[in-house]
Amino acid sequence: MTDLRQARHLATEIPGPRSRALMARKTATVASGVGTTMPVFATRAGGGVVEDVDGNVLIDFGSGIAVTTVGASAPRVIEAVREQAEAFTHTCFMVTPYESYVAVAEQLARLTPGSHEKRSVLVNSGAEAVENAVKIARAFTGRQAVVAFDHAYHGRTNLTMALTAKSLPYKHGFGPFAPEVYRAPLSYPFRDGLDGAAAARRAIEVIEKQVGTPAAVVIEPIQGEGGFIVPAHGFLPAIAAWCRANGVVFVADEVQSGFGRTGQWFASEHENVVPDLVVTAKGIAGGLPLSAVTGRAEIMDAVHAGGLGGTYGGNPIACAAALAVIETIEADGLLDRARQIERLVTGRLIRLQEADKRIGDVRGRGAMIALELVHPGTGEPDAELARVVSAGARTRGVIVLTCGTYGNVLRLLPPLTISDELLHDGLDMLADAFRAGLNS
Ligand SMILES: *Cc1c(COP(=O)(O)O)cnc(C)c1O
Repeated sequence: MTDLRQARHLATEIPGPRSRALMARKTATVASGVGTTMPVFATRAGGGVVEDVDGNVLIDFGSGIAVTTVGASAPRVIEAVREQAEAFTHTCFMVTPYESYVAVAEQLARLTPGSHEKRSVLVNSGAEAVENAVKIARAFTGRQAVVAFDHAYHGRTNLTMALTAKSLPYKHGFGPFAPEVYRAPLSYPFRDGLDGAAAARRAIEVIEKQVGTPAAVVIEPIQGEGGFIVPAHGFLPAIAAWCRANGVVFVADEVQSGFGRTGQWFASEHENVVPDLVVTAKGIAGGLPLSAVTGRAEIMDAVHAGGLGGTYGGNPIACAAALAVIETIEADGLLDRARQIERLVTGRLIRLQEADKRIGDVRGRGAMIALELVHPGTGEPDAELARVVSAGARTRGVIVLTCGTYGNVLRLLPPLTISDELLHDGLDMLADAFRAGLNS
């Protein structure tokens, strides 16, 4: 990263000739179900930029989907990975354990909300961790039903596909899905106009009338793929309180919203919610595959020995990286930095919105901010505009992702190590893309 200049630079058109050649090789050999947001191939990344094979330097507003929160080549992470790789790459924690796994569990116990006794299990991906949270909740309660919400995204494995709301591209053609999964209405202030208490009453009524008492309620405190939907104030605490009163395990899927992304360690903290189980992944290990379920000792320990785990779960290199990520967030004041990014980005986006009626909503927390695009007048979702503006930003050298059930949300997820200059330049390019999108 040290010699990677922190400035946007277009050396060729996007994609350049080398990326085009690689894309032809990809098409000939990689399954077409594996899509790519941008048709450029990366060579280096760090700070707030990604460099491609043609020498283009792109501003990173995606962080590899909210993963490289501490930067794509954070010095402490590089050093920890190098040291651990030299010592050993794998023994399997279930065969001969090692300290770093235990140390990650200790850190998760310290950092997740609540001062109760906690336990953790480490696995490899967000979806695998969500599956484990459901296994644990079922073992603890002796019940089977699981409630997820409208617009939810929890992964692509069979059980998590069932929990995920959106059909295309995540579920279409892949059924049958796991049984005993039920869906409740979310609080979506921009579209339902309900306050948190009213939205919670609506959700709880659906759960009570259509499910009864489930094993678990699984919710993203701020939705990721579903459109960066921030529930109305009071919604999450009301759902959590209902769970507590009914012996239902409240599972916070903090895979995207956790690990400093929103200016707190966990997005649940913005609403003073203490989940029974917290699911983490994405930002946890600086890009190495690691995920976790952390929660109340009595719930976690309800599972018999051998019931949880996996060959690679809590890989030692990934654990070393996670410890370095935690140290970096704390030592470099990155929670504060996330809040600064929120002020800078939302300030500029609200000014953009004031001049552009196609921007229906600006929302999010910390470095997890979105624009919901609509047809002025009707408020109907405008997915085509999201497509045009994100594509326009990309040709200008800015990595921008979309999301949302209706595909009409632009989401900004910069690494917390990005400079203000890069944020301003990237937002200028986004504004340009909006202006160009007027005439398309
Ligand atoms: C990305 C994501 C997942 C799935 O994580 P993978 O590592 O891709 O399996 C689950 N939940 C949320 C909220 C996510 O954003």
